[in-house]
Amino acid sequence: MNTDTYLHVAQGEFQLLRFPVEKSEKLRAWDAADEYLLNDVAPKIALLTQAQVLIVNDSFGALALALHAFKPCSVSDSFISQQATEKNLALNQLDKESVSLFDSLNYPREKFDFILIKAPKTLAFLEDILLRLQSLLKPDTQVIMAGMVKNMSPAVWQTLERLVGKTTPSKAVKKARLIYASPDTNRSIADNPYPVVYPLENTQYQICNHANVFSRQRLDIGTRFFLEHLPQDNKYQQVVDLGCGNGLVGLIFAAQNPQAKIDFIDESFMALASAEQNFKQLASEHRARFIAADALSDFSADSVDLILCNPPFHQQNTIGSHIAMRMFKQAKQVLRTGGELWVIGNRHLGYQASLKKYFAKVELVASNAKFIVIKAT
Ligand code: SAM
Repeated sequence: MNTDTYLHVAQGEFQLLRFPVEKSEKLRAWDAADEYLLNDVAPKIALLTQAQVLIVNDSFGALALALHAFKPCSVSDSFISQQATEKNLALNQLDKESVSLFDSLNYPREKFDFILIKAPKTLAFLEDILLRLQSLLKPDTQVIMAGMVKNMSPAVWQTLERLVGKTTPSKAVKKARLIYASPDTNRSIADNPYPVVYPLENTQYQICNHANVFSRQRLDIGTRFFLEHLPQDNKYQQVVDLGCGNGLVGLIFAAQNPQAKIDFIDESFMALASAEQNFKQLASEHRARFIAADALSDFSADSVDLILCNPPFHQQNTIGSHIAMRMFKQAKQVLRTGGELWVIGNRHLGYQASLKKYFAKVELVASNAKFIVIKAT
Protein backbone atom coordinates (compact mmCIF):
# COMPACT_ATOMS: atom_id res chain seq x y z
CA MET A 1 0.00 0.00 0.00
CA ASN A 2 1.64 3.29 -1.11
CA THR A 3 -1.08 5.53 0.24
CA ASP A 4 -0.28 7.87 3.11
CA THR A 5 -1.82 6.38 6.25
CA TYR A 6 -0.45 8.85 8.79
CA LEU A 7 -2.54 11.88 9.68
CA HIS A 8 -0.46 14.71 11.19
CA VAL A 9 -2.54 17.35 12.97
CA ALA A 10 -2.28 19.64 16.00
CA GLN A 11 -3.49 16.78 18.23
CA GLY A 12 -0.65 14.45 17.13
CA GLU A 13 0.04 11.71 14.61
CA PHE A 14 -2.48 8.94 14.00
CA GLN A 15 -2.44 5.97 11.65
CA LEU A 16 -5.72 5.67 9.80
CA LEU A 17 -6.96 3.04 7.36
CA ARG A 18 -10.04 3.04 5.18
CA PHE A 19 -12.40 0.11 5.67
CA PRO A 20 -12.90 -2.38 4.28
CA VAL A 21 -9.15 -2.60 3.70
CA GLU A 22 -8.29 -2.96 -0.01
CA LYS A 23 -4.93 -4.37 -1.10
CA SER A 24 -4.14 -1.60 -3.55
CA GLU A 25 -5.92 1.25 -1.75
CA LYS A 26 -5.16 4.59 -3.39
CA LEU A 27 -7.23 6.83 -1.13
CA ARG A 28 -6.47 8.21 2.30
CA ALA A 29 -8.85 7.66 5.22
CA TRP A 30 -9.27 11.42 5.75
CA ASP A 31 -9.39 14.57 3.65
CA ALA A 32 -8.23 18.17 3.79
CA ALA A 33 -11.46 19.17 5.56
CA ASP A 34 -10.66 16.82 8.48
CA GLU A 35 -7.15 18.29 8.77
CA TYR A 36 -8.44 21.83 8.59
CA LEU A 37 -11.12 21.23 11.22
CA LEU A 38 -8.75 19.49 13.64
CA ASN A 39 -6.06 22.17 13.39
CA ASP A 40 -8.64 24.94 13.68
CA VAL A 41 -10.42 23.54 16.72
CA ALA A 42 -7.29 22.58 18.72
CA PRO A 43 -6.57 25.98 20.35
CA LYS A 44 -10.29 26.64 20.92
CA ILE A 45 -10.88 23.34 22.72
CA ALA A 46 -7.73 23.89 24.79
CA LEU A 47 -9.39 26.94 26.38
CA LEU A 48 -11.93 24.73 28.16
CA THR A 49 -10.88 22.40 30.94
CA GLN A 50 -13.35 19.64 30.08
CA ALA A 51 -14.85 20.30 26.67
CA GLN A 52 -17.89 18.21 25.72
CA VAL A 53 -17.41 17.29 22.08
CA LEU A 54 -19.89 15.82 19.61
CA ILE A 55 -18.71 14.62 16.20
CA VAL A 56 -21.23 13.99 13.44
CA ASN A 57 -20.58 12.06 10.23
CA ASP A 58 -16.89 11.26 10.73
CA SER A 59 -15.56 9.24 7.77
CA PHE A 60 -13.17 6.58 9.08
CA GLY A 61 -12.58 7.93 12.58
CA ALA A 62 -10.04 10.72 11.88
CA LEU A 63 -11.95 13.24 14.01
CA ALA A 64 -12.76 10.80 16.80
CA LEU A 65 -9.18 9.53 17.08
CA ALA A 66 -7.57 12.95 17.06
CA LEU A 67 -10.01 14.19 19.73
CA HIS A 68 -10.06 10.99 21.81
CA ALA A 69 -8.61 12.82 24.85
CA PHE A 70 -11.98 14.63 25.19
CA LYS A 71 -13.90 11.34 25.16
CA PRO A 72 -16.12 12.59 22.33
CA CYS A 73 -19.49 11.23 21.28
CA SER A 74 -19.56 10.34 17.58
CA VAL A 75 -22.80 9.99 15.62
CA SER A 76 -22.84 8.25 12.25
CA ASP A 77 -25.32 6.66 9.86
CA SER A 78 -22.63 4.30 8.63
CA PHE A 79 -21.90 0.93 10.20
CA ILE A 80 -18.62 0.84 8.25
CA SER A 81 -17.59 4.22 9.64
CA GLN A 82 -18.27 3.01 13.18
CA GLN A 83 -16.28 -0.16 12.57
CA ALA A 84 -13.46 1.87 11.06
CA THR A 85 -13.39 4.13 14.12
CA GLU A 86 -13.09 1.12 16.45
CA LYS A 87 -10.43 -0.56 14.31
CA ASN A 88 -8.41 2.64 13.90
CA LEU A 89 -8.57 3.23 17.67
CA ALA A 90 -7.14 -0.25 18.19
CA LEU A 91 -4.50 0.31 15.50
CA ASN A 92 -3.27 3.33 17.49
CA GLN A 93 -3.45 1.49 20.84
CA LEU A 94 -6.21 3.84 21.97
CA ASP A 95 -8.91 2.71 24.38
CA LYS A 96 -12.15 1.70 22.65
CA GLU A 97 -14.04 3.42 25.47
CA SER A 98 -12.48 6.79 24.63
CA VAL A 99 -15.13 7.36 21.94
CA SER A 100 -18.88 6.76 22.44
CA LEU A 101 -20.49 5.70 19.17
CA PHE A 102 -24.12 6.54 18.38
CA ASP A 103 -26.16 5.75 15.30
CA SER A 104 -27.93 8.44 13.31
CA LEU A 105 -31.32 7.67 14.83
CA ASN A 106 -30.17 7.76 18.45
CA TYR A 107 -28.28 10.87 19.42
CA PRO A 108 -26.75 11.41 22.87
CA ARG A 109 -28.79 13.61 25.19
CA GLU A 110 -26.33 15.94 26.89
CA LYS A 111 -25.39 19.49 25.84
CA PHE A 112 -22.12 20.02 23.99
CA ASP A 113 -19.49 22.77 23.90
CA PHE A 114 -18.38 21.79 20.39
CA ILE A 115 -20.40 20.13 17.66
CA LEU A 116 -18.19 19.21 14.72
CA ILE A 117 -20.01 18.14 11.59
CA LYS A 118 -18.44 16.63 8.51
CA ALA A 119 -20.60 17.88 5.61
CA PRO A 120 -22.96 15.07 4.59
CA LYS A 121 -23.68 14.17 0.97
CA THR A 122 -27.21 15.50 0.85
CA LEU A 123 -29.07 18.53 2.18
CA ALA A 124 -31.82 16.26 3.46
CA PHE A 125 -29.37 14.42 5.69
CA LEU A 126 -27.86 17.71 6.89
CA GLU A 127 -31.31 19.01 7.73
CA ASP A 128 -32.11 15.85 9.66
CA ILE A 129 -28.79 16.08 11.56
CA LEU A 130 -29.38 19.71 12.52
CA LEU A 131 -32.95 19.03 13.61
CA ARG A 132 -31.90 16.06 15.74
CA LEU A 133 -29.24 18.04 17.56
CA GLN A 134 -31.43 21.00 18.58
CA SER A 135 -31.71 19.92 22.22
CA LEU A 136 -27.94 19.38 22.39
CA LEU A 137 -27.18 23.05 21.70
CA LYS A 138 -26.37 25.61 24.40
CA PRO A 139 -26.30 29.35 23.62
CA ASP A 140 -22.48 29.16 23.49
CA THR A 141 -22.09 25.85 21.65
CA GLN A 142 -19.58 26.22 18.83
CA VAL A 143 -20.95 24.43 15.76
CA ILE A 144 -18.35 23.93 13.06
CA MET A 145 -19.07 22.24 9.77
CA ALA A 146 -16.16 21.08 7.61
CA GLY A 147 -16.27 20.02 3.99
CA MET A 148 -14.68 20.29 0.62
CA VAL A 149 -15.65 23.58 -1.07
CA LYS A 150 -17.35 21.74 -3.95
CA ASN A 151 -19.77 20.12 -1.49
CA MET A 152 -20.65 23.33 0.39
CA SER A 153 -23.33 24.95 -1.76
CA PRO A 154 -25.15 28.13 -0.66
CA ALA A 155 -28.04 25.88 0.37
CA VAL A 156 -25.75 24.26 2.96
CA TRP A 157 -25.06 27.63 4.55
CA GLN A 158 -28.70 28.60 4.41
CA THR A 159 -29.69 25.37 6.16
CA LEU A 160 -27.14 26.01 8.92
CA GLU A 161 -28.35 29.62 9.31
CA ARG A 162 -31.96 28.47 9.48
CA LEU A 163 -31.49 25.61 11.92
CA VAL A 164 -28.61 26.87 14.08
CA GLY A 165 -27.95 30.59 13.65
CA LYS A 166 -25.53 33.12 12.24
CA THR A 167 -22.77 31.57 10.12
CA THR A 168 -19.26 32.74 9.29
CA PRO A 169 -17.11 31.07 6.66
CA SER A 170 -13.39 30.39 6.96
CA LYS A 171 -11.13 30.97 4.01
CA ALA A 172 -10.62 27.93 1.79
CA VAL A 173 -7.49 25.85 2.47
CA LYS A 174 -6.54 22.97 0.15
CA LYS A 175 -10.06 23.21 -1.33
CA ALA A 176 -11.63 22.67 2.11
CA ARG A 177 -13.71 25.14 4.06
CA LEU A 178 -15.16 25.47 7.56
CA ILE A 179 -18.43 27.17 8.41
CA TYR A 180 -18.85 28.39 11.99
CA ALA A 181 -22.41 28.66 13.29
CA SER A 182 -23.48 30.15 16.61
CA PRO A 183 -26.87 29.18 18.00
CA ASP A 184 -29.52 31.85 17.69
CA THR A 185 -31.53 31.60 20.90
CA ASN A 186 -34.60 32.98 19.10
CA ARG A 187 -34.53 30.46 16.28
CA SER A 188 -37.87 28.79 15.61
CA ILE A 189 -37.59 25.24 14.49
CA ALA A 190 -40.23 23.34 12.55
CA ASP A 191 -40.85 19.62 13.08
CA ASN A 192 -38.47 17.17 11.44
CA PRO A 193 -40.04 16.27 8.05
CA TYR A 194 -38.17 12.92 8.01
CA PRO A 195 -38.89 10.11 7.53
CA VAL A 196 -40.85 10.91 4.38
CA VAL A 197 -43.44 8.55 2.94
CA TYR A 198 -44.57 7.92 -0.63
CA PRO A 199 -47.12 5.47 -1.98
CA LEU A 200 -45.59 2.66 -4.05
CA GLU A 201 -47.27 2.75 -7.47
CA ASN A 202 -49.81 0.02 -8.22
CA THR A 203 -49.66 -1.36 -4.66
CA GLN A 204 -51.20 -0.67 -1.28
CA TYR A 205 -47.78 0.01 0.29
CA GLN A 206 -46.65 3.29 1.81
CA ILE A 207 -42.86 3.52 1.64
CA CYS A 208 -41.09 5.14 4.59
CA ASN A 209 -37.68 6.72 3.99
CA HIS A 210 -35.36 8.23 6.54
CA ALA A 211 -33.29 11.24 5.47
CA ASN A 212 -30.13 9.42 4.34
CA VAL A 213 -31.81 6.71 2.28
CA PHE A 214 -31.21 6.03 -1.41
CA SER A 215 -34.00 7.42 -3.59
CA ARG A 216 -35.95 8.64 -0.57
CA GLN A 217 -38.41 10.82 -2.49
CA ARG A 218 -39.58 8.50 -5.21
CA LEU A 219 -39.11 5.02 -6.59
CA ASP A 220 -35.74 4.75 -8.36
CA ILE A 221 -36.18 3.79 -12.03
CA GLY A 222 -33.62 0.98 -11.72
CA THR A 223 -35.36 -0.42 -8.65
CA ARG A 224 -38.69 -0.21 -10.51
CA PHE A 225 -37.30 -2.33 -13.35
CA PHE A 226 -35.90 -4.84 -10.83
CA LEU A 227 -39.29 -5.10 -9.08
CA GLU A 228 -40.89 -6.03 -12.41
CA HIS A 229 -38.53 -8.99 -12.83
CA LEU A 230 -38.09 -10.50 -9.38
CA PRO A 231 -38.06 -14.31 -9.32
CA GLN A 232 -40.90 -16.29 -7.78
CA ASP A 233 -40.43 -19.90 -6.65
CA ASN A 234 -40.94 -22.04 -3.55
CA LYS A 235 -37.32 -23.13 -3.73
CA TYR A 236 -36.09 -19.81 -2.33
CA GLN A 237 -35.96 -20.31 1.44
CA GLN A 238 -33.04 -18.25 2.68
CA VAL A 239 -32.87 -14.92 0.85
CA VAL A 240 -30.80 -11.74 1.22
CA ASP A 241 -31.75 -8.22 0.10
CA LEU A 242 -28.17 -6.96 -0.17
CA GLY A 243 -27.79 -3.16 0.14
CA CYS A 244 -31.50 -3.02 0.93
CA GLY A 245 -31.97 0.76 1.20
CA ASN A 246 -35.64 1.27 2.07
CA GLY A 247 -36.15 -2.49 1.59
CA LEU A 248 -38.51 -2.26 -1.38
CA VAL A 249 -36.90 -5.14 -3.24
CA GLY A 250 -37.12 -7.51 -0.26
CA LEU A 251 -40.63 -6.30 0.55
CA ILE A 252 -42.05 -7.04 -2.90
CA PHE A 253 -40.12 -10.30 -3.15
CA ALA A 254 -41.50 -11.38 0.25
CA ALA A 255 -45.05 -10.54 -0.79
CA GLN A 256 -44.63 -12.80 -3.86
CA ASN A 257 -42.66 -15.53 -2.04
CA PRO A 258 -44.21 -15.89 1.43
CA GLN A 259 -42.17 -19.04 2.22
CA ALA A 260 -38.88 -17.13 2.12
CA LYS A 261 -36.99 -15.89 5.16
CA ILE A 262 -35.33 -12.60 4.24
CA ASP A 263 -32.26 -10.92 5.65
CA PHE A 264 -32.16 -7.20 4.86
CA ILE A 265 -28.55 -5.98 4.88
CA ASP A 266 -27.32 -2.41 4.68
CA GLU A 267 -24.48 -0.42 6.14
CA SER A 268 -26.78 2.60 6.71
CA PHE A 269 -28.76 2.57 9.96
CA MET A 270 -31.39 4.81 8.39
CA ALA A 271 -31.81 2.37 5.50
CA LEU A 272 -32.39 -0.53 7.89
CA ALA A 273 -34.84 1.43 10.01
CA SER A 274 -36.79 2.33 6.85
CA ALA A 275 -36.73 -1.26 5.58
CA GLU A 276 -37.96 -2.59 8.93
CA GLN A 277 -40.78 -0.07 9.05
CA ASN A 278 -41.81 -0.90 5.47
CA PHE A 279 -41.76 -4.66 6.07
CA LYS A 280 -44.31 -4.28 8.88
CA GLN A 281 -46.95 -3.75 6.19
CA LEU A 282 -46.81 -7.47 5.36
CA ALA A 283 -48.78 -10.03 7.33
CA SER A 284 -47.04 -11.22 10.49
CA GLU A 285 -46.15 -14.69 9.13
CA HIS A 286 -43.51 -13.16 6.86
CA ARG A 287 -40.06 -13.64 8.39
CA ALA A 288 -37.21 -11.16 8.20
CA ARG A 289 -34.10 -9.87 9.97
CA PHE A 290 -32.55 -6.40 9.58
CA ILE A 291 -28.79 -6.45 9.87
CA ALA A 292 -26.30 -3.58 9.88
CA ALA A 293 -23.24 -5.03 8.18
CA ASP A 294 -20.56 -4.51 5.59
CA ALA A 295 -22.18 -6.47 2.76
CA LEU A 296 -22.03 -10.25 3.40
CA SER A 297 -18.98 -10.24 5.68
CA ASP A 298 -20.86 -11.89 8.56
CA PHE A 299 -22.50 -14.68 6.52
CA SER A 300 -21.22 -18.25 6.49
CA ALA A 301 -20.41 -20.05 3.26
CA ASP A 302 -23.15 -22.12 1.60
CA SER A 303 -25.97 -20.59 3.63
CA VAL A 304 -28.18 -18.66 1.19
CA ASP A 305 -30.44 -19.63 -1.76
CA LEU A 306 -30.92 -16.23 -3.35
CA ILE A 307 -29.31 -12.79 -3.15
CA LEU A 308 -31.07 -9.75 -4.63
CA CYS A 309 -28.84 -6.75 -5.19
CA ASN A 310 -29.00 -3.24 -6.63
CA PRO A 311 -25.34 -2.45 -5.92
CA PRO A 312 -24.09 0.87 -4.56
CA PHE A 313 -21.83 2.95 -6.76
CA HIS A 314 -20.14 5.02 -4.11
CA GLN A 315 -18.67 4.77 -0.63
CA GLN A 316 -19.12 8.09 1.14
CA ASN A 317 -17.95 10.61 -1.50
CA THR A 318 -15.92 8.12 -3.53
CA ILE A 319 -17.56 6.85 -6.69
CA GLY A 320 -16.60 3.44 -8.05
CA SER A 321 -17.58 -0.16 -8.59
CA HIS A 322 -15.34 -1.57 -5.85
CA ILE A 323 -18.18 -2.25 -3.40
CA ALA A 324 -20.25 -3.97 -6.10
CA MET A 325 -17.25 -6.18 -6.94
CA ARG A 326 -16.81 -7.18 -3.29
CA MET A 327 -20.50 -7.95 -3.05
CA PHE A 328 -20.32 -10.25 -6.11
CA LYS A 329 -17.26 -12.04 -4.75
CA GLN A 330 -18.81 -12.54 -1.32
CA ALA A 331 -22.11 -13.63 -2.89
CA LYS A 332 -20.33 -16.47 -4.64
CA GLN A 333 -19.00 -17.73 -1.29
CA VAL A 334 -22.24 -17.33 0.61
CA LEU A 335 -24.59 -18.95 -1.93
CA ARG A 336 -25.41 -22.66 -1.69
CA THR A 337 -24.71 -24.87 -4.71
CA GLY A 338 -27.36 -23.88 -7.25
CA GLY A 339 -27.96 -20.59 -5.41
CA GLU A 340 -28.63 -17.45 -7.43
CA LEU A 341 -27.45 -13.85 -7.37
CA TRP A 342 -29.83 -11.44 -9.12
CA VAL A 343 -28.40 -8.03 -9.91
CA ILE A 344 -29.85 -4.87 -11.45
CA GLY A 345 -27.48 -2.41 -13.02
CA ASN A 346 -27.03 0.35 -15.54
CA ARG A 347 -26.11 -1.21 -18.90
CA HIS A 348 -22.85 0.72 -19.08
CA LEU A 349 -21.53 -0.63 -15.77
CA GLY A 350 -20.54 -3.94 -17.37
CA TYR A 351 -21.71 -6.09 -14.45
CA GLN A 352 -22.08 -9.13 -16.71
CA ALA A 353 -18.35 -9.30 -17.39
CA SER A 354 -17.55 -8.73 -13.70
CA LEU A 355 -19.92 -11.50 -12.61
CA LYS A 356 -18.33 -13.95 -15.03
CA LYS A 357 -15.16 -13.77 -12.94
CA TYR A 358 -16.96 -15.47 -10.06
CA PHE A 359 -19.94 -17.34 -11.51
CA ALA A 360 -20.10 -20.21 -14.01
CA LYS A 361 -23.35 -19.07 -15.57
CA VAL A 362 -24.41 -15.44 -16.10
CA GLU A 363 -27.76 -14.91 -17.81
CA LEU A 364 -29.57 -11.80 -18.95
CA VAL A 365 -33.07 -11.89 -17.43
CA ALA A 366 -34.38 -8.60 -18.80
CA SER A 367 -33.16 -5.36 -20.30
CA ASN A 368 -34.46 -1.97 -21.34
CA ALA A 369 -32.76 1.11 -22.78
CA LYS A 370 -31.00 1.86 -19.49
CA PHE A 371 -30.91 -1.21 -17.24
CA ILE A 372 -30.23 -4.91 -17.23
CA VAL A 373 -31.30 -7.58 -14.76
CA ILE A 374 -28.77 -10.39 -14.51
CA LYS A 375 -28.93 -13.80 -12.88
CA ALA A 376 -25.64 -15.41 -11.86
CA THR A 377 -25.41 -19.04 -10.70
N1 SAM B 1 -31.94 -1.91 -2.69
C1 SAM B 1 -32.33 -0.51 -2.69
C2 SAM B 1 -33.06 -0.17 -3.98
O1 SAM B 1 -32.91 -0.94 -4.95
O2 SAM B 1 -33.77 0.83 -4.04
C3 SAM B 1 -31.14 0.41 -2.49
C4 SAM B 1 -30.04 0.29 -3.51
S1 SAM B 1 -28.78 1.51 -3.35
C5 SAM B 1 -28.26 1.63 -5.02
C6 SAM B 1 -27.42 0.66 -2.61
C7 SAM B 1 -27.51 0.45 -1.10
O3 SAM B 1 -26.32 -0.24 -0.68
C8 SAM B 1 -27.59 1.70 -0.25
O4 SAM B 1 -28.71 1.62 0.59
C9 SAM B 1 -26.30 1.70 0.57
O5 SAM B 1 -26.45 2.23 1.88
C10 SAM B 1 -25.96 0.23 0.62
N2 SAM B 1 -24.54 -0.08 0.84
C11 SAM B 1 -23.45 0.59 0.40
N3 SAM B 1 -22.33 -0.01 0.77
C12 SAM B 1 -22.69 -1.09 1.50
C13 SAM B 1 -21.97 -2.12 2.17
N4 SAM B 1 -20.65 -2.16 2.14
N5 SAM B 1 -22.67 -3.06 2.81
C14 SAM B 1 -24.02 -3.04 2.84
N6 SAM B 1 -24.76 -2.09 2.21
C15 SAM B 1 -24.10 -1.14 1.54
